Amino acid sequence: MDFLREIQELRQFFRSGRTRSVAWRKKQVKALLQLIHDNEQAIFEALRQDLGKHPVEAYRDEIGVVEKSANNSLNHVEKWMAPRKSHVPFLFFPAKGEVISEPLGVVLIFSSWNFPISLALDPLIGAISAGNAVVLKPSEQAPACSSLLAKTIPHYLDPDAIKVIEGGADVSEQLLLQRWDKIFFTGSSRVASIVMTAAAKTLTPVTLELGGKCPAILDSLSSPSELKTAVKRIVGGKWGPCSGQACIAVDYVLVEEKFAPVLIELLKKFIRRFYGDNPKESKVTARIVNKQHFQRLCNLLKDPLVVNSIVHGGSVDEEELFIEPTILLDPPLDAQIMTEEIFGPFLPVITVNQIQESIEFINSRPKPLTLYAFTKDETFKRKIVSETSSGSVSFNDTLVHFLCETLPFGGVGQSGFGRYHGKYSFDTFSHEKAILHRKLFLEIEPRYPPWNQLKMQFLRLAYRLNYFGILLFLMGFRRRN
Ligand code: NAD
Repeated sequence: MDFLREIQELRQFFRSGRTRSVAWRKKQVKALLQLIHDNEQAIFEALRQDLGKHPVEAYRDEIGVVEKSANNSLNHVEKWMAPRKSHVPFLFFPAKGEVISEPLGVVLIFSSWNFPISLALDPLIGAISAGNAVVLKPSEQAPACSSLLAKTIPHYLDPDAIKVIEGGADVSEQLLLQRWDKIFFTGSSRVASIVMTAAAKTLTPVTLELGGKCPAILDSLSSPSELKTAVKRIVGGKWGPCSGQACIAVDYVLVEEKFAPVLIELLKKFIRRFYGDNPKESKVTARIVNKQHFQRLCNLLKDPLVVNSIVHGGSVDEEELFIEPTILLDPPLDAQIMTEEIFGPFLPVITVNQIQESIEFINSRPKPLTLYAFTKDETFKRKIVSETSSGSVSFNDTLVHFLCETLPFGGVGQSGFGRYHGKYSFDTFSHEKAILHRKLFLEIEPRYPPWNQLKMQFLRLAYRLNYFGILLFLMGFRRRN
C-alpha cells in the first residue's frame, strides 16, 4: 500500500492554493449535490444491500442530510470565510485586529458503517467548504456504499484534491502512519484510541465522533396525548435510525416504577403501528449490519437474567440478520447490556422510585453523546442541564437535534470531542488565524529595558487599568522623561 505518492499529490495541490478560492469550494459542494442527485437510486440500492435500509429511511437519514448540509454550506460559505474584525483594547492603540479562517491542509476522514453515506459526505462538505484537500476512508463494513463512493467521487469532485481510499483496519493503520493536518474520525472508542495514539506521534489534531449509551428520561406528563407523543418519539429514536445501530439512538429509558406498565404498553403499540405485527416481513426496519455484530447483539441476551427481563420481542433470525424490536424491563445493571453501548434493537426500561434519581444514575456512568428527557418541569430541565454532562441534551424529542445545523454536534468525555455541522463543520476544518495590524508610531517605552520602578508601575497599570488611566499615566510619564 503506497499512499505516499497520492498524499504528496494532494499536498502539492493544496500548496498551489487552488482549494482556497470560494469558487473552487462552491464548485465541489455543487458537484457533490449533483453526485447525490444523479446517483440517488444507486445510493438507495447500496444502502439496501449493506443495511437493508428502506429508501424513505435512507433519504431521511442519509441523502436528505447531505443535501441539507451542502445547501447550507453553499448559502453561507462566503460569510464563514470572511475575515472577522476583532475589538482590540486601547492598550494596543493604534491597532486593528481580525481573525481569518484558513484551511488546515490535507485532512483524513474516517467514517462508520451505520450511516455510510451521510457520515462520510457530511464531514467531507465541512472539509471542502473550509478549503482543504481530503482523503476519505469509508467503512469497509458497508462495502456497497464504500465502493459507490470510491467510484463516483472522482468523477464529480476534483480528483487532485479529494481522494477516496477504501479498505479495512490494515489500510487504516497504514493511513495513520502518514502525516495529516487533521484527522476526523467517526466510530468506536476502541479504534478512536488507536487513531489518537497515532495522531499524538505527529501532534495531529483530531475530532472524535464516538458513541455511548444515550439515556431517555420519561417524566410524568400531564395529558395522555403528550405521553403518547413522547413514547412515539422514543420508539422513533430507538428503532427508527438503522434499527438502533446509531450513536444517537435511545439506549435505555429511565422511568418511575409506577409508570413502567403504561410505558411498555405504549411502546408495544407504536412498535406494532410502525413495524406491523410481523416486523421481519414488514421490511421497514434496517437489518443488523453483519454476522459479527449480529453475534455481538445475541451475546448481550445470553445472560439468563437478561433473557428473563424481556417483556416484548426477542426473536432473532441469523440468516436474515434480523432482530425483532425488543423491550427489557430492569435487566441487571451489571449485565453487558447495561454497561456497553447496545447499538442494536434492544431497549431496556430502567425503573427508579423518583424520576430525579435518573440524574444520579446517568452521572454514575460515562458521559453520553446525547441525553433525552421528556418533561415539562422547568426546574427538572434546569437540573438536568446543570447537573449532568453529555454531548447534547434534547428535551421532548429524539434525534432531530442531529439535523439542526445551527447547533454543534459532538461528544464529551468518552462520547468523543470536537464538534461539527453547519458553521461548526467549517470551524472544525479551519484554523482561526489571529491578525494584529499595528502602526509604527506611538512607542510605549516602558515595555523595553533598562528597567526601573516607574516602568514596573506603568506595566501594572497598563495591564489592569482602563484607557483613561493609561492616558493619564502616559502624560505624566512623558513629562517626567
Ligand atoms: P469502528 O471504530 O469499527 O470503525 C470506524 C472507522 O475506523 C472505519 O472507517 C474503520 O475502517 C476504521 N478502522 C477500523 N479498525 C481500525 C484500526 N485498527 N485503525 C484505524 N482505523 C480503523 O466503528 P464502527 O463499528 O464503524 O461504528 C460504530 C461506532 O461508531 C459506535 O460506537 C457508534 O456509537 C459510533 N458512531 C458515532 C457517531 C457520531 O457521530 N458520534 C456516528 C456513528 C457511529
